[in-house]
Amino acid sequence: MNRKKNISRRDFLKFVSLIPLTWLARPIAHATLPKREGNVHRNVIILVFDAWSANHLRFYGYPRDTMPNLERFMEKATVFHNHYSAGTFTIPGTASMLTGLYPWSHRAFSLGSGGIIKEHLNDQIFSIFSNTHSTLAYAQNKFADILLFQCAKYLDTHLKVGAFNLEHRFLYNFGPFKNDPQMAFASLENNILLDRTTSSSSLFVNPIYNLWKTTATRDNDLRFSDEYPLGLPDNTEQFLLADVVDGAIQTLRGLEEPGFVYFHFYPPHENYMPLKPFRNIFNDGWQPPVKPVHRLSWGKKSRATLNQLNREYDEYMASWDAEVSRLFQYMEDSGLLERSYVIITADHGELNERGERGHFTPLIFDPLIHIPLIIFQPGQKKRKDVHTYTSSIDLLPTLAHLIGSPAPSWVEGELLPEFGGVNDPGRSIYSMDAKTNASLAPLTKTSISLTKNHQRLTYYKYPDGEQFEFYNLEEDREELRDLYPSRPADAVLIRDELLQKLDEVNRLFKA
Ligand SMILES: [Zn+2]
Repeated sequence: MNRKKNISRRDFLKFVSLIPLTWLARPIAHATLPKREGNVHRNVIILVFDAWSANHLRFYGYPRDTMPNLERFMEKATVFHNHYSAGTFTIPGTASMLTGLYPWSHRAFSLGSGGIIKEHLNDQIFSIFSNTHSTLAYAQNKFADILLFQCAKYLDTHLKVGAFNLEHRFLYNFGPFKNDPQMAFASLENNILLDRTTSSSSLFVNPIYNLWKTTATRDNDLRFSDEYPLGLPDNTEQFLLADVVDGAIQTLRGLEEPGFVYFHFYPPHENYMPLKPFRNIFNDGWQPPVKPVHRLSWGKKSRATLNQLNREYDEYMASWDAEVSRLFQYMEDSGLLERSYVIITADHGELNERGERGHFTPLIFDPLIHIPLIIFQPGQKKRKDVHTYTSSIDLLPTLAHLIGSPAPSWVEGELLPEFGGVNDPGRSIYSMDAKTNASLAPLTKTSISLTKNHQRLTYYKYPDGEQFEFYNLEEDREELRDLYPSRPADAVLIRDELLQKLDEVNRLFKA
């Protein structure tokens, strides 16, 4: 995209190249670990797109062509068709990817101080790679960044959450707060300043902060209104899609190889702010299937509102596709793709249906947990397809396997098919949410789904009642016909398996 306003991409790149990496990065928490000699290892580069639902890609059956550039690159990759996040929003979804554990094991259920992997500070993906690879991580989502802080011991470079943003207002990047960023985040960023939905937001500081933020946001939106007619993308700090991609390319240019890289990009997470050329491209009259408002929906949004949100989500995703394809092209042109395993995936999906918007919800339906997984291997020229059901907890053992390490004993994931694993259609794949449940207590407020054999049972267990739903995904991918009321034998079997698992994981916390 051509920048017409004050800062051109060229200016930005010039600026970035002048910044010492140490300024963009957090202080390294440890002396650089000795790397294995001989550089025999490939790079491993993980690109996470936040709140990116597989159900919104044409490749996975969506009617709109939201990511044509990515789909072109996918023709040289192994593509997983039924890959599921173990969590339904950033904290549990990301923690499961980084640890190879289900949320009931890592216990990072909720925002702020609840987003802690506690017992597993040494049991995560960076610890596996830090002896053989240089390790570099960047999360543009502040909640994912909280998890990266906990891995700091194994990170050679930890780029700041706002390294490529337009403005810099995260308090925990500054002054006294940066010495204890996690506490600063929990107390300042998440509660006092930003969380306007809870009683913990400060009555005094919060309005002043928001006035300051509102004024700056309006000024930036005006400044870039030619490029972003709806306003700028915003993750507390506003940013330009092009800048984030430029920053990632610039970072990869300086990669110490072999490197292990974790880039967690905020797009296409809401607010959905498409670039001008993509605004209204999906004003096509297409209507998603009608789905009833769910009893547990927090939003209770109208169908018209949700259809509009889906359209904006798709247009924003297309904007992101246009920009991030420059990163794919860079990796191809520079030869990096030939020397690297590149993994493209999401921390969770997005759900604008059944009265609910976004992903902060107790609901579990396919668009929220079905995420893309695309793996490029060095030298791969032709697409391979994997249809068996897989989970985000499989990434860690698979990547360990690729560098010749055995799967660590703590992981609950398995090796992915085509990368050492087998096709097992009967495997049990869980996804869960427990954001209102205390982290170190039995699960009494939770939603858990168990997917296997193209069937899904979802259990909503809350103090005001419990509910099971059962869907045949082969015949009813949209999950419109709940078969549980007639108690088919399969539903009873899967229900009993899920209840047994829940009992097992709760046993640790029972007196
Ligand atoms: Zn997320």
